[in-house]
Amino acid sequence: MGSRAAEQRQEARQLAARLSAEGVRNVALTWVDNAGIARVKTVPAERLAAAAERGVGMSPVFDVFTSDDAITASDHLGGPDGDLRLFPDLERVTTLAAQPGWAWAPADRYDQLGLPHPACQRQFARRMTERAAAAGLELRMGFETEWVVTRAPAGHPAATGADEPLDYPCTGPAYGMTRVVELSDYLRDVTEALSVQGIDVLQLHPEYAPGQFEVTTAPGDPVRAADDVVLVRETIRAVSVRHGLRASFAPSVVAGQVGNGCHLHLSLYRDGTSLHRTPDAQWGLAPDASAFLGGILGALPALLALGCPSPASYLRLQPSHWAGVYQCWGVENREAALRLITGAPDDPDGGHAEVKTFDAAANPYLAVGAVIAAGLHGIESATRLPEPQTGDPGVLGVRERARRGIVRLPATLTEAADRLEKSAPLYEAMGEVLHGAVLAVRRAEEAHFAESEDDAIAAATRWRW
Ligand code: GLU
Ligand code: MG
Repeated sequence: MGSRAAEQRQEARQLAARLSAEGVRNVALTWVDNAGIARVKTVPAERLAAAAERGVGMSPVFDVFTSDDAITASDHLGGPDGDLRLFPDLERVTTLAAQPGWAWAPADRYDQLGLPHPACQRQFARRMTERAAAAGLELRMGFETEWVVTRAPAGHPAATGADEPLDYPCTGPAYGMTRVVELSDYLRDVTEALSVQGIDVLQLHPEYAPGQFEVTTAPGDPVRAADDVVLVRETIRAVSVRHGLRASFAPSVVAGQVGNGCHLHLSLYRDGTSLHRTPDAQWGLAPDASAFLGGILGALPALLALGCPSPASYLRLQPSHWAGVYQCWGVENREAALRLITGAPDDPDGGHAEVKTFDAAANPYLAVGAVIAAGLHGIESATRLPEPQTGDPGVLGVRERARRGIVRLPATLTEAADRLEKSAPLYEAMGEVLHGAVLAVRRAEEAHFAESEDDAIAAATRWRW
């Protein structure tokens, strides 16, 4: 034990020396709160070894912060007392390409005695990954990042004003090359910054809404996927600032328009072999993969409280907006909440599934952890996927949807939070302290926006994530 600690200390010192040699002055240690906001403490590069050894102090009250920086309380958390320690994950320390002099690392949260903080979302994601591994399953996951870019108001490149009219720096059509031409330097800088930071960019394209783009990155283990999406988002933000632009990752940038999703892609492996490539199985799905996906599908109403955590999320969740608002699955169906992607038949890693409903207000660690918990519950309870849906359920009549057994997912945060409150598998997986804190934050967000019009909700949340 002592020699391991000494080894770690040595590694941390070497890392700090390397960072200093690269010109890094400060390291940003981020964690994501239950409202989906990446909060931060920063340390000088030469303090990194000390931070890795003893952690950096941080109040547990952030577990009950809401997206407007108000503070609520749960049975276990809230109030001014107590302290936690943030421990940077040294394996993920990354020099930031668009913030010269800065590096970043995600952090885990422990109490003063060195015990895991029960509401630490990153450790929840790791626990669920380990639970899957104990069942012989390996998961690869990745998030898609969608964002809307606007010009920053002159003189206030990082201002957070809520209701100024949006000034788009590109005018080209959805998915059109014109947008790429108009913003070619900016988009090049985004992909370059990501790639020098070790993020493997798979593709980037203009999306449907005005000023909207999407970048997808390579899958990794679930905790890595959640870390990556934090890094991707902060990198896009930083490159935007350097170009006099602003990036909105909010679920609904303008109420009534297509919003920003943050879809979660996942694939399952056993002993290194994809469970989406089983010979002679329907859709190539091994029984465990089918049960896992059935578990996710069944838990979606409760999962929405984690993957779609803001009242603004429900402005985005409209039928026929490719956001997946019905509780159904489909093969390559972009209106199904759970989309199966079969991929090219000769690609051993091509098959995977996508939870389309989630957005970037979600804490990605909670999202991956809860999806794994739901999938494992699906296996334990021998769930089976129902028949897949083709076409857009939103254009079917009420009666036809009922005949096919398709129900609408929660259309309000209240409904989703009620489902999470009653979900025994998610309560068990998250534990009382984390589950209670998440619910307290959801209830506070509901109350805060209860009287607000859609436009006001979109404006108030536009620059929060
Ligand atoms: N922007 C859509 C959403 O709100 C998704 C478009 C797509 O399928 O990538 O999720
Ligand atoms: Mg997209």
